[in-house]
Amino acid sequence: QGETIGLLHVSFTEEALIQSPLELRSEELEAIATAVSLALGNLALREKLKSQSVRDGLTGLYNRRFLEESLPREIERCRRRNLPLTVVMADLDHFKKLNDTWGHEAGDLAIQSFAETARRHFRSEDILCRYGGEEFCFVLPECPPEDARARAEALLRSQRESTLRFGRDSIGPITTSIGIATFPAQGVDGIEIVRLADAALYRAKLRGRDQM
Ligand code: GH3
Ligand code: MG
Ligand code: MG
Repeated sequence: QGETIGLLHVSFTEEALIQSPLELRSEELEAIATAVSLALGNLALREKLKSQSVRDGLTGLYNRRFLEESLPREIERCRRRNLPLTVVMADLDHFKKLNDTWGHEAGDLAIQSFAETARRHFRSEDILCRYGGEEFCFVLPECPPEDARARAEALLRSQRESTLRFGRDSIGPITTSIGIATFPAQGVDGIEIVRLADAALYRAKLRGRDQM
């Protein structure tokens, strides 16, 4: 299919080559190569489709569907082991204004840049999702609220202190507002915890944004 995915190395013993010389084996070799490459190609395609169904195309973060599938599972896991789980909701501030002033391309860049920054502030086992538009939801299993707060605070600071390079222009800083809620202290299931984190986010917006 026009793509190189590997190099096939076949070797024969001398006896085998005497029985049937290499020139007469080309069909056999091509058949093997075709079968192997089709199988590997299918595996790669299946991996890609799987990744596309759970990842957001713009940022590479998980999508909302994956979040909704995995949050109940993660909560159950923490419940069994008596560990807390924290949900962090984040929303970029005055994003409409950014889009209106600089265009959607700049808006998309800001979303990508935020996703990159977020990756640096959380652990690899945390489930970082793009919830929709410029809203994000991070699920932190086994993470007490104090730890989540420290990480979120550092994320807010990074956003506050960085500007976005857009062609020749420098945009921003683009600040963020964050809301946090923890299981089991605040809610009994995923829906309730996300709702509480969202309510805390809304309060951060009302208090003036760029805070949690
Ligand atoms: P606030 O500080 O209250 O959050 O203000 P805001 O303007 O960020 O609030 P709001 O959530 O109402 O606006 C979000 C806007 O984000 C709406 C839409 O035009 C824009 N948006 C949503 N998804 C995308 C996207 O994928 N790319 C770009 N460029 N813009 C998007
Ligand atoms: Mg916003
Ligand atoms: Mg929003």
